[in-house]
Amino acid sequence: IKVQEYRPQSFTDFAKEENVKAYQEALAKVRKELVGRHYPLIIDGKEVDTAEKLTSINPCDTAEVVGTTAKATIQDAENALQGAWKAFESWKKWDMDARARILLKAAAILKRRRLEACALMSIEVGKNYAEADVEVAEAIDFLEYYARSAMKYSGFGSSETTWFEGEENGLMSIPLGVGVSISPWNFPCAIFIGMAAAPIVAGNCVIVKPAEDAGLIAGFMVDIMREAGLPAGVLQFLPGVGKEVGEYLVNHAKTRFITFTGSRAVGLHINEVAAKVQPGQKWIKRVIMELGGKDGLIVDETADLENAITAATQGAFGFNGQKCSAMSRLIVVDSVYDEVVNGFVERAKALKMGTGEENANVTAVVNQMSFDKIKGYLELAPGEGKVLLGGEATGEANGKQGYYVQPTIVGDVDRNSRLAQEEIFGPVVAVLRAKDWQDALDIANSTEYGLTGGVCSNSRERLEQARAEFEVGNLYFNRKITGAIVGVQPFGGYNMSGTDSKAGGPDYLANFMQLKTVTERW
Ligand code: NAD
Repeated sequence: IKVQEYRPQSFTDFAKEENVKAYQEALAKVRKELVGRHYPLIIDGKEVDTAEKLTSINPCDTAEVVGTTAKATIQDAENALQGAWKAFESWKKWDMDARARILLKAAAILKRRRLEACALMSIEVGKNYAEADVEVAEAIDFLEYYARSAMKYSGFGSSETTWFEGEENGLMSIPLGVGVSISPWNFPCAIFIGMAAAPIVAGNCVIVKPAEDAGLIAGFMVDIMREAGLPAGVLQFLPGVGKEVGEYLVNHAKTRFITFTGSRAVGLHINEVAAKVQPGQKWIKRVIMELGGKDGLIVDETADLENAITAATQGAFGFNGQKCSAMSRLIVVDSVYDEVVNGFVERAKALKMGTGEENANVTAVVNQMSFDKIKGYLELAPGEGKVLLGGEATGEANGKQGYYVQPTIVGDVDRNSRLAQEEIFGPVVAVLRAKDWQDALDIANSTEYGLTGGVCSNSRERLEQARAEFEVGNLYFNRKITGAIVGVQPFGGYNMSGTDSKAGGPDYLANFMQLKTVTERW
């Protein structure tokens, strides 16, 4: 296959008036063509509808129904699984090149429809322009990157083995079979498609179970994969309730692998369920997990403090803190604590709340459950620290009723408190005061998570110490700790943050393949 070397997509500059205008036109187009749509299930290439439906609500204006998807039943899940195994019989025999071409074609379509995908997410999950733009760029990148990575696993002898006289020895990578991909709502375009495209290009068939709050953008992406020529049954689209169809498929004897991105609680539950061997099951299910985080940014006394404040503000409040990589703990060395925290509060004060469509800095959080959960933490805040900014779940912004939560900064939080330890997944930051650099690093590591982290410092020694000792899957120096780019910063955490599978990394596809060694004596 002839392709240019992989290069990540560039981002759109919304300081330019023409880009804002184009975005607004896309919003109008999406309102006309996609809002109000219903996406059925897709099983074996056919549309299947259900009596019950899942409704997507605009979180920034909860009076608005964005659209609906079908709500899969257990029977639908069973049909999807059986159908996928039938499709696997031929899909596994396709050339790697041919499979990769489908991803490249899908990337080309998505490039053309980039603004529509963005606008749809502004309405369905409340992303502002830049947040939606980087996410769709990431979705294109996943397709482009995995298409190229697939080549590495093509054919016999794709991985290195040692020469042995009188024999031919070699390794071949073969797909696993049929798996389930269960994705979250916070990156409902990029993570959703990345977790489908990777196993698919490797030759597996996948049942995709999108998050309940973001079924429309998932349906939009599935349409693109179909248009790109994906054969029937390879990608079974199964919107439904996680606890029902998700759980059923995780349990099922015929499920070969589960790739999951979501919360720690659900992830650990899935891990446990998947470990239990069911009657008739022939394999040990493979489980790939990307879970939550309690990500810390350390600022020491040698840092460029202005730069650190920018890093903190961007990392904390981008998409309202609803990123697994979001900076939810700011850890500042005592001697610069006041200066950094004051600057951070000032900067956060300037953030405007509003809808995704208005391109506000801070929009509404995704749903009622999330709103209530964050509210619970806001109630804890005065007891666990000093509320320096925000502190209220207003439920309203600019006259719109929605799941609005003020950007909130809580100072002098104890390292063992709930605010410092639990993933809140909203615009709420715990600031922790460290005695010195070593104490700061100890605080950063005093969590069971290990996803992202960062250090703002100009001490080479400390940066090198952090490189070795800061326990996270993605570590950033002197910048924000969010915004990993496919291929550039392979992404994923360890400890309770996941199985360190590194999405957008050189070995990610290996998660979805097994190796066979073949020896022929001459
Ligand atoms: P969630 O765990 O509530 O849901 C994730 C998915 O699991 C949804 O599709 C849901 O329907 C499904 N599900 C729920 N119960 C299930 C069950 N019993 N069996 C099977 N499936 C089930 O998470 P969320 O609220 O959608 O996403 C936010 C979480 O995701 C945060 O914790 C965040 O940190 C994490 N996340 C991690 C990464 C990463 O790369 N590490 C990336 C994005 C989000």
